[in-house]
Amino acid sequence: MMAAEALPDGAITLSEGMELQWCNQTASEHIGLNLATDRHHSIFNILRAPEFAHYAQQREWEGPLLLHLEKEGIDKSLSVQLTRYGFGQFLLVTRDVTQVEKLETTRKDFVANVSHELRTPLTVLLGFLETLRELPVESISDEQRDRYEQMMLEQAQHMQAIVADLLTLSTLESSLPTEGRPVRMSQIINQALEQAKVLSDGEHIFIENIDSSLCIVGSENELTSAISNLLTNAIRYTPKDGTITVSWFPTEDGGAIYSVEDTGIGIAPQDIPRLTERFYRADKGRSRATGGTGLGLAITRHVAVRHNAELSIQSRFGSGSLFMLRFAPLRVRQIEEPNL
Ligand code: ADP
Repeated sequence: MMAAEALPDGAITLSEGMELQWCNQTASEHIGLNLATDRHHSIFNILRAPEFAHYAQQREWEGPLLLHLEKEGIDKSLSVQLTRYGFGQFLLVTRDVTQVEKLETTRKDFVANVSHELRTPLTVLLGFLETLRELPVESISDEQRDRYEQMMLEQAQHMQAIVADLLTLSTLESSLPTEGRPVRMSQIINQALEQAKVLSDGEHIFIENIDSSLCIVGSENELTSAISNLLTNAIRYTPKDGTITVSWFPTEDGGAIYSVEDTGIGIAPQDIPRLTERFYRADKGRSRATGGTGLGLAITRHVAVRHNAELSIQSRFGSGSLFMLRFAPLRVRQIEEPNL
């Protein structure tokens, strides 16, 4: 029975009358039984799920049965399989499939979300196309046609942005982090700031405190996307005349912090922990209106993890937010000549 003890699955042997004879440690954890006191008791008194009783009555078992059990307030999914063995005895094999089931649910939710996200712009796009096709040419003015085309272009660009972010996410999730090389952060932060100012179109005040000699060892592309995500979010969620403060500085312990602070709309406390979930939006209207994909912070969190950084979010609803990426010392390098 030593071999059975080493199995990752639970194993239980039952007598002809389905009474417990023996089980390994894993099985006793799976269904909460105690060999000392439960031995010789009917398995139906131990595993009380009616589906199991029904399954056991079949007497021939082609596949396993999936059981949903609750143990000490925690839901658990078990796959159990009965087979005949020895002289009229039975072997019951149990396997904990809770994680597998959870992953499956996440995958299904994700596919449903992606379809929903793409369907909205696609419906709008189709609507305009059909209108243009059905209306007689002379009944639409050039101006109107221009407007329609502009709106169709926006919807197509929105779909393109979603697909691009999805690809980025899937690359981040499926590839091993690259070792990378020292990336001069001031360079990519300044580039991101230039683009951010175009987006802001003079509506915001920018304050910049950027150390020019600090480098992070990692992937330039990934770091760029994290840096600009936080920056563009600050602009998109801060009304006109707000202030955006961008900082990049060393910490006392040898680490470094990139932070973006805004005086924008802020985030309610209950939304903060969920912002890095894919497609989670606190302010749906504003996200859509500014072309958001709902994936930016999910991407940023992945990049952070891959660079030994921690993403932290502080915010007061109605008065502004502070997003910080705190890099661990092992990633930080100093470059001597800041002007090179
Ligand atoms: P989106 O494309 O919708 O902006 P993100 O993943 O970048 O997606 O952000 C998720 C949500 O977090 C946004 O929809 C928004 O509600 C909220 N959010 C992000 N940054 C800010 C910010 N600086 N101020 C207020 N809310 C923000």
